[in-house]
This record gives sequence, structure tokens and C-alpha cells, in this order.
Amino acid sequence: RTVYVNGSYVAEQDAKISIFDRGFLFGDAIYEVTAVLNGRLVDNPGHLARLERSCGELGLVLPIRQDQLVAIQHKLIDINQLQEGSVYIQLSRGTDGDRDFHFPQPSVQATLVVFTQARKLVDNSQARNGIRVVTLDDIRWQRRDIKVVALLAACLAKQQAQSLGADDAFLVAEDGTITEGSSCNAFIIDKQGHIITRPLGRDLLHGITRRALLELADQQGIVLEERPFTREEAYQAAEAFITSATSFVWPVTHIDGHRLGDGAPGPMTRRLQQLYHAVAAGAAEP
Ligand code: PMP
Repeated sequence: RTVYVNGSYVAEQDAKISIFDRGFLFGDAIYEVTAVLNGRLVDNPGHLARLERSCGELGLVLPIRQDQLVAIQHKLIDINQLQEGSVYIQLSRGTDGDRDFHFPQPSVQATLVVFTQARKLVDNSQARNGIRVVTLDDIRWQRRDIKVVALLAACLAKQQAQSLGADDAFLVAEDGTITEGSSCNAFIIDKQGHIITRPLGRDLLHGITRRALLELADQQGIVLEERPFTREEAYQAAEAFITSATSFVWPVTHIDGHRLGDGAPGPMTRRLQQLYHAVAAGAAEP
């Protein structure tokens, strides 16, 4: 695989950054993941807009123009002949060659890394059969709207979910409401067929797939309720699902061992999943 590091295209084993890089030492870095379907980027302008926003919130400066970044994404897709998977972008505050908490001089350039990952996004067992989730305390920091690489809490949650025999975790805030999944947005569908998902704020990531899914559902005339919901409400839901750039739409069949509906992916979730797959395949820009 060929990857991009600070202006160069190199084989992955030759890609190097400093051990003093602030992304490595402090988690002082942001990232984005854009899905690739049929060799095309899905909803990339949304992901790049969020990258810009993350930069702005943290005073990070992208060392190249956005159109140059898009050219890098396309070049890696071409070189690596990626049909289905994702492109990962990471931007750290770079380094001035020491471990110092204060930001380096503005003259220090950010470290920019871009690589591709091959992965089946449409045809995989989680998309077909759904996933089981458990609820865990949301122990992350208070700015979950910024897509930072400090993902230890997410790693711990995934690991704990796995050790409990589940596929993923829904994270629960101190007031008992679910914020989102460990690396996805969380939705439930109530017995009236309304979609319920947490409103945007600082306590969750503003998912690009979440927004696309809500637009689709709205076009279908489905009632949307953007409000917090508790884990007890989720247990009673008719259906549930998650969204992210690397899963698109995955049905949730069990929450903390409570079976939703008949324990199979729900009909509304299925319909939304099919619609989203069609949009991702068709509306993807060249
Ligand atoms: N929430 C969290 C915590 C995430 O890590 C992700 C994906 N990285 C999402 C939501 C989904 O966002 P998107 O649809 O933009 O991939």
C-alpha cells in the first residue's frame, strides 16, 4: 500500500514521523474518514467541512489547500486501486523536536498523513444480520464534537463490549441518556415508527452519515425526533441502528441482552439501509 506523509507518497513501511510528534505524545491531532464505494468518495465535502471545523476549534492549520487534499485522496485511491473501503486523513500539530505542552511556534508545520483501507462496506455480516450492543458509561472528554485521535475511551469501550459478548457499545452520559456509539451515531425507532436520535451538541460527534440518513428519512416522510433518549427507552424500541462512514447503516438487534422486536433487523432499518446504500453508490462524487 502506498501512503501519503507530509508531501511524499511512499510505501507504508517507509512512512515515518517524529517520536516527538504531538499526535503521538499528546493525542494533539484530528482525523477524518471518508468512505469509498466503487472507487469514489462518499459525502467527501461533508467530511472535509468537519475537518475544517475541527481545525478551527483547536487552532490547527491545514498545511495545504482543500483541493490539494482531495487530489491526494484521489491519487491514493488510484495508486492502491481501492474499490471499496475508506480514506483516512490525520492532521497533528507537528513538533518542535521536544515534549512541550505549549503549542509550538506557528512556523511549525502540521503533520499530515493520508492512507487508504480496503473494507466491505455494503456486503458484510453486520449489515445483513445486525449487531448486539451493550451500554457503558461515556467516560470521554467534554468536546466529543471535535474529531480528535485521542480514542482510548472508544478502544476501552469496544474491548469491554467484546468481552461481554457484544459487537459494540452505546455510551451513556451521567444523566442516563445515550450520547452515541463508541465510533458511530445511535438511533432508535419507537412503536409509532418515529426515528429518535440525540440532537447535535458538544457531547457527540456530528456524524456525516447521521446527517445524510436523517435527510433520507425526512424525504421518506418519516417523523424525526432529535432528542436525548435513555437506555430504558432504547430497550423498549421497535428497532435500532447505527451509522458511520465505515459501517453506513447497521441494524442493532439487542441492547444489553434485551431483544428488539423479533431479534432480527427491523423493516424500517432495512429500508433506510437500502436507500442509503443506493445514495452512497450513486451520489458519490467522481
Ligand atoms: N460518533 C463517533 C464517536 C465516531 O467516531 C464516528 C465515526 N468516526 C461517528 C459518530 C460517525 O460519524 P461519520 O458518520 O461522520 O463517520
